[in-house]
Amino acid sequence: MRLGLVIDLDVCVGCHACAIACKEWNASGATAPLTDYQPYGAQPSGVWFNRIRSYEVGEYPNNKTINFPMSCMHCEDADCVTVCPTGASYKRAEDGIVLVDQTKCMGCNYCSWACPYGARELDRESGTMKKCTLCIDRIYDTFMPVEERQPACVLTCPAHARMFGDMDDANSAVSVVIRERGGYQLMPELGYNPTNHYLPVRKATPISTDNMGKSGFKDRLKGIVNKVVKR
Ligand code: SF4
Ligand code: SF4
Repeated sequence: MRLGLVIDLDVCVGCHACAIACKEWNASGATAPLTDYQPYGAQPSGVWFNRIRSYEVGEYPNNKTINFPMSCMHCEDADCVTVCPTGASYKRAEDGIVLVDQTKCMGCNYCSWACPYGARELDRESGTMKKCTLCIDRIYDTFMPVEERQPACVLTCPAHARMFGDMDDANSAVSVVIRERGGYQLMPELGYNPTNHYLPVRKATPISTDNMGKSGFKDRLKGIVNKVVKR
C-alpha cells in the first residue's frame, strides 16, 4: 500500500483552507504543537506542514494564476530518510508514510536540506523537525466514522481539489484520476518517486478583451435608464 494525495491544480483556488485545517488538526497529537512566532506581530512566522504558493503563468491574454499547494510528497526513495544521522526520519513499510520520530530528532536540519520540495521545517521551540504526517492519527482512527478517516486538508477543501488514497491499488479513485487526467509527480527527474501527484490545469480558451469598454445597445440603454432614475 502506498498512501498519498492527489491535488487538482485546475480546481484549487488558493483559499488556504487546507493549510489552516492542517495547522488546526496538527496543533494537537503526536507532532504538536506547531509553533507560531509573533502570530500577531509585525513579522509573523511559524511551522506549517502545507503551504500554498501562487504563480502567474503565461503571457497576457493567455495568462493564468496557478495555486500550488505543497506538503511532504512521501517519496518512495526519500533522501530525508537516508541522510538522517539518528534514524529519526523513517518511512513506514506498510503504507509508505514518511514520519519523524520526535524523540530521536536532534534538529540538525540535514533532512530539510536534502528535501527538494521544502517539506521539512525546524520547530525552534521543540528543536525538532516537523512535517506532514498524512494525518496518520486520523486515517487509522477507528473511533471516527469511516468517511472522516481522511487527512484534514482533504476533508476541508471547499473546492474538492484534494484526494487521498492508495496509489498501489490500480482501481482506487486516486489511481483512476491520475490515469484519466494525466496526473504527474513533481520533479520526477530527481528519482525520489514522490507518492503525491498533481492533476494539470486544463487549457482554457482566452476571452477576447478587444471590445471591452465599447458598450453595446443593452449597456447604453441601461445607462440612460440609470440617468433618468437618478434625476
Ligand atoms: S483548500 Fe483546496 S482550494 Fe483551497 S488552497 Fe487548499 S487545495 Fe486549494
Ligand atoms: S495530510 Fe494532514 S498533515 Fe499532511 S498536509 Fe494534509 S492536513 Fe496537513
